[in-house]
Amino acid sequence: MRVGDFYRPGGFGLSIEIFPPKTENGEQALQQTLDRLAKFQPAFISCTYGAGGTTRDQTLRWCQEIQDRCGVPATAHFTCVGSTREELLAWLDRASNAGVGNIMALRGDPPQGEKTFQAVDGGLKYANELVELIRAHHPDMGIGVAGYPEKHLECVDAATDLINLKRKVDAGADAVFTQLFYENENFFRFRDEYERIGITVPLVAGIMPITSFARIQRITAMCGAIFPKALSKRLEAVQDDADAQFEIGVGHAIQQCQELIDQGVPGIHLYVLNKSDACERILGELNWQPAEAKFAG
Ligand SMILES: Cc1cc2nc3c(=O)[nH]c(=O)nc-3n(C[C@H](O)[C@H](O)[C@H](O)COP(=O)(O)OP(=O)(O)OC[C@H]3O[C@@H](n4cnc5c(N)ncnc54)[C@H](O)[C@@H]3O)c2cc1C
Repeated sequence: MRVGDFYRPGGFGLSIEIFPPKTENGEQALQQTLDRLAKFQPAFISCTYGAGGTTRDQTLRWCQEIQDRCGVPATAHFTCVGSTREELLAWLDRASNAGVGNIMALRGDPPQGEKTFQAVDGGLKYANELVELIRAHHPDMGIGVAGYPEKHLECVDAATDLINLKRKVDAGADAVFTQLFYENENFFRFRDEYERIGITVPLVAGIMPITSFARIQRITAMCGAIFPKALSKRLEAVQDDADAQFEIGVGHAIQQCQELIDQGVPGIHLYVLNKSDACERILGELNWQPAEAKFAG
């Protein structure tokens, strides 16, 4: 099934994102996490492509593990960073031969310390070019792309960023997955504009449950997501208490998801950072019914 097909009317597209671990312990822990996540029968589990293209092989290996171990379709993230067109095409052929039928097509971030993204000679500059390349050479592949409810860090304004998002959809993307956000209002405003400029593919909300205040501060600073002051204050008050941070963070994610579901989002993409506990809690509280792919309410 192509990425866009997971968002059928009457059902709900639940997807989960993991990343390739760097250590043997991390690998074992992720295998256990996958076993626990598999029982939710998500539409797919995606695996990221390391910054700078550092996990080219690992991304595909984990996608195979997701499919073989969990029996769940995998989506491989893929970036333009550090690769020529020929190298990008060679990797896509490998993904296709490995049975991976869905790609999250991304530009990638500039290397650490650099503010602007430079394409390598013979490489691609923007994600819309990657979508075009995939469509031209693998017309049957499903393609997801990134969207930014609070604007991409490098873009001058939200309207321009949205026009650039539309280029990716016009090039053939099947669905848009948002950057993590903590204020639903920002997502709803973005969705209105998204529809207004004529983007019609499913818009899937990206949610990263907060399980550690320190970690989430680093992540939001890096990706430019807005961290609400009131939530920050509550977490600051318990900065020496890991359990309390988990309770506040996961409670916020449950509220966010409930409102998003009530407001008709076609799917939620959970950034779980290779752990299952927050995801289990959220899906349990929201009464997720795996066999029917919907929330019982
Ligand atoms: C769901 C999701 C998954 C992600 N997974 C990964 C991952 O696995 N690995 C990883 O390294 N990173 C990942 N990222 C981060 C992503 O690589 C960065 O946010 C990156 O800085 C931008 O990627 P993009 O695909 O959105 O780029 P683009 O869509 O190319 O946009 C980049 C910037 O250029 C502008 N722009 C786009 N097209 C044009 C154009 N044609 N002309 C002029 N300006 C343009 C945009 O407005 C934006 O400011 C992910 C992000 C999300 C939301």
